[in-house]
Amino acid sequence: MNYEEIMKLALERGFYFPSCEIYADAQAGFWEYGPSGVNLKNKFLELWRRELVRRDIMLEIDGSQIMSPSVFEASGHLTSFADPIIKCKNCKSTFRADRLIAETINVEIPESAELEDFDKTISEKNVKCPKCKGEFEKTRKFNMMFKVGIGPDGETAYLRPETCQSIFVDFPRLFKTMRGKLPLGIAQVGKSFRNEIAPRQSLLRLREFYQAEIEVFCNPKKLNDMEKFTEIQDTKIRVQTDSEPQIMTCKEAVETGELPNKLVAYYFGLLTEFYEKTGIDITKSRFRKLGDKEKAFYAEIAFDFEVETSVGWLELVACNYRSDYDLSSHAKKSKEKFEVIDDGQKVLPHVFEISMGIDRSLYTILEHSSRIDKENDRTVLSIKPYLAPVHVGILSLVKKDGLKEKTDEVFMNIKTKCDAFLDHAGAIGRRYRRLDEVGAPLAVTIDHQTLEDNTVTVRERDSMSQDRIKISDLESFLLKHIAFP
Ligand SMILES: [Zn+2]
Repeated sequence: MNYEEIMKLALERGFYFPSCEIYADAQAGFWEYGPSGVNLKNKFLELWRRELVRRDIMLEIDGSQIMSPSVFEASGHLTSFADPIIKCKNCKSTFRADRLIAETINVEIPESAELEDFDKTISEKNVKCPKCKGEFEKTRKFNMMFKVGIGPDGETAYLRPETCQSIFVDFPRLFKTMRGKLPLGIAQVGKSFRNEIAPRQSLLRLREFYQAEIEVFCNPKKLNDMEKFTEIQDTKIRVQTDSEPQIMTCKEAVETGELPNKLVAYYFGLLTEFYEKTGIDITKSRFRKLGDKEKAFYAEIAFDFEVETSVGWLELVACNYRSDYDLSSHAKKSKEKFEVIDDGQKVLPHVFEISMGIDRSLYTILEHSSRIDKENDRTVLSIKPYLAPVHVGILSLVKKDGLKEKTDEVFMNIKTKCDAFLDHAGAIGRRYRRLDEVGAPLAVTIDHQTLEDNTVTVRERDSMSQDRIKISDLESFLLKHIAFP
């Protein structure tokens, strides 16, 4: 299904919708997750914890969203975290310079390019305001952090633009108290905030968004010294260092020099295995190497994990080798010690970052998992059963003859074991269609035969096949069907 069809499904089935939608002054770029969206997000994160955090024995923290100015002075965000913007002299509309140029004359200028590069292209190609055809002022930088005032005097602080800064700031304490050993992954899930000039496409460009970030602290001299590499060395990944993605194993990626070392290849392998289990079509993915002007200011080497969708390639994960950029700048600013002992030697760890956008990942899962089944006149979200917002619908064929009571009883026994949805109302076919749209892998129907022999009908979402099973076997059958891989 395409973007518009997913949007309709999201709005009608409680996945996500605009924030403050009943008021005219609601700002763009803020969205809410409804019950189906929250269930999907929670299960996605459980899978992320299983496949990355627990598998690799990482530490997970939960830091505060408001942080002090010193953090962002040290991190460089106060000076460097800015977008190039242009303002129309006539109607005063503001645009992202790189996006407007790309959209109007189809010329790609990286957002980190020099400001003069934008002005030069705008005057040479005669780019005008799309609203009023007016001339533009000179390109300037706009810092994307949200400033907040703390206490009655409004002391300055910032909403974090990325979750990772608390991981860096907390590193000395965490390494010590958790008796850390390099390489060490520290993970965090939470909200980040960016004052985007032009938020758009619902979950795809938000001002308030979820990240799942992992910072791997490592000894820069031991990036190829990794026993656990053998676990994923044969996992196939798609790496694009020039025009086309190449399929290769993690081992080949290191041996051919496509990837710089085993540490990076190891995490690309883990990420690929994780996304494969989310149901995203991995044949439409690539780790694309970013050029010097395209990568973030803190990155030494950067790859984006991108997936192809109906709106083009979407960046789901930014993988940045940040070297000692963060720890050395926080050490300098705070005078705190960030070196640790590894094999009897003092080292300032380097950082490899796996920064995942949760909202975009959920959108991509929805798009890649959904289909319109014309033959049966239905929309089906064929999502992996362990990610389904609703695991099972519990339906009475009709409400009379004691079937409602029997259905309620089945529901009561199952509702704390999995995400079950009780539905008595409407034609049975329509109830099945609604369950198909929220991706419920199973539907259980209680009918007259149930009262005689204590069996129920179980309908499977994708095949629409129906089987009768005993109520006494229902729980174990369900739990097996929705178990994580
Ligand atoms: Zn204008």
